[in-house]
Amino acid sequence: MVSMFEIKAINAFSDNFIWCIINNNSQCVLVDPGDANVCIEFIEKNQLHLTDILITHHHSDHVGGLAQLIDFAKTQDSAITVYGPASENISLLDHKLVEGNRITLFDDQLEFAVIDLPGHTSGHIAFYNESENALFCGDTLFSGGCGRLFEGTPEQMLNSLTKLSHLPDNTKVYCAHEYTLANLHFARTIEPKNSQLQSYYDNVVELRAKNIATIPSTIGLEKQINPFLRSHCSDIKQLAEQQSAQLLETDVKVFAIIRSLKDNF
Ligand code: ZN
Ligand code: FE
Repeated sequence: MVSMFEIKAINAFSDNFIWCIINNNSQCVLVDPGDANVCIEFIEKNQLHLTDILITHHHSDHVGGLAQLIDFAKTQDSAITVYGPASENISLLDHKLVEGNRITLFDDQLEFAVIDLPGHTSGHIAFYNESENALFCGDTLFSGGCGRLFEGTPEQMLNSLTKLSHLPDNTKVYCAHEYTLANLHFARTIEPKNSQLQSYYDNVVELRAKNIATIPSTIGLEKQINPFLRSHCSDIKQLAEQQSAQLLETDVKVFAIIRSLKDNF
């Protein structure tokens, strides 16, 4: 099926992606606009009409542009709708979402299911569209890595990542940061014998040398190369046990060790 939508990255700060979903009517939706100025510049340059904003979690690099974009929409003669997580303290939301909610955008052209992903923050959510195979997952799953556990437990984060790993392999992962190369430097220390990881690393080194984005990734790829989706693998368990000098009976314990190794990498 030919997609009716374009998904473009707007670069913000040093390594954020603000995703812009555009329909065939030049309407657009922004995901996690931390910086309004780069969004307004992009919208004006491409002559788009902003209709909605989706927010995954409360961190300022994801919500910082909200107030200014709402004002900007008024200059475009439209009222925009802002969607975000119900259990986080974010001002200016019109709709507060929890898992199982479905939202429709662009006059019912585009539908998203809401997935709860506690871990990075306690109320973090993702937006998933089945027909476009697109997942907007903020700071939960990155290519080759995952978000830091600022508010959640390792158990919550592993559950959240496991949910995402059950999405179809061809699901495109639109995360909010270009962290891939740094993540893979770490991943290779965890799974030095993973040949798919090695070839993806070679690929990513080349892309980054040309300043090309590595995102979107896919769920199928991440399951093969991302250590945080692979805490059940015996090689990773073994390494985590060696590094921590203890027996790790559960995937959660393995995951927690890998996450703390990454925090100190
Ligand atoms: Zn964040
Ligand atoms: Fe972030």
